[in-house]
Amino acid sequence: MKPEFGLEFVTCNLCESDKVLPFMTATDWFSQDDGQFSIVKCKECGLIYVNPRPHPDHMNLYYGEKYYTHGKAKTRETVSRRQQSAGLKKIAKSALLAHVQKDNNSQNKILNQMTGAVLLALFRNKIISRQRWGLVGKKGTLLDVGCGNGSFILGIHNDWLLDGKIKGVGTDIDSAAVDEAKNNEIDASIADSGTLPYQDRSFDIITMKHSLEHMHNPLKTLREAWRVTKDGGYIIIEVPNIESLGPRLFRDKWSAIDAPRHLYHFNPATLSLLVSKAGFDIEDIYKWKGSYKRDLTLKNLNKEWEKRNFSRLQKILLNKAYSIGLILIELIYRGGAISIRARKN
Ligand SMILES: [Zn+2]
Repeated sequence: MKPEFGLEFVTCNLCESDKVLPFMTATDWFSQDDGQFSIVKCKECGLIYVNPRPHPDHMNLYYGEKYYTHGKAKTRETVSRRQQSAGLKKIAKSALLAHVQKDNNSQNKILNQMTGAVLLALFRNKIISRQRWGLVGKKGTLLDVGCGNGSFILGIHNDWLLDGKIKGVGTDIDSAAVDEAKNNEIDASIADSGTLPYQDRSFDIITMKHSLEHMHNPLKTLREAWRVTKDGGYIIIEVPNIESLGPRLFRDKWSAIDAPRHLYHFNPATLSLLVSKAGFDIEDIYKWKGSYKRDLTLKNLNKEWEKRNFSRLQKILLNKAYSIGLILIELIYRGGAISIRARKN
């Protein structure tokens, strides 16, 4: 494959300006074909994007069977084993909700508060996400755009916090990923995010978990999402945060640069502007703890050290140092990813 094959120049997806500043030159570490891509920053609005970039028709050349969304979602066997401890989960859930909602009327107030605090510490990210995304106690239909192998929907269906009251379906442009989702009995279909096969106002919730950065036209995707959202429904988007420490420390080795598969790089400001322009009203924006897929960042660093012919000892020492460094960053730093919740009013 020729890395320069089928490249196209585009204007800014957010403000249509063609005035840009260079932001970074990024190697395609995943494909290992030495392809290099130019990432630019819009002079007018600050949106960061790959330009020139592969044409949508040729994009499949840059994914491949090993891309992580093609992997197996959690199997049904795992799910049924989880269901065996349903009683325990029920107790855990009531304790947790009592803690989070500061329920002082419960008979087991102190026990609930203590158990809840432990659970919150153990499952912090998951619990915060379910709460912040308004999913706890919610009943309705959910569409996951860019569902990959369906693991997010499967997680929602079997989540001990959610009682299975949310019915999710998914779309993805990638047929291999959709096949894998179907294997897990997820109602998934192959569809372009800019032309979704659903009637207006079909869904209570739309989710885009780490998919918007892959889209060729994020604004069109969001407008289409707005069309299929019910009045009063909402959208949840989660993307890597280009303003975080990762790209400053590791440049194009940061796992979320992932050129050219990640075509857009958002910060809280540019993501908010884009979501608002599509018609949604922003309700919540949140920065996630963690450095975003640290294993993949380390893998990319290793590929560079390999290229630079570092000795075996050098590589071992660097791996140890970076592993510890990345774990420390994850413990103390907030902001590797951002999520937004926005409503269609
Ligand atoms: Zn712009």
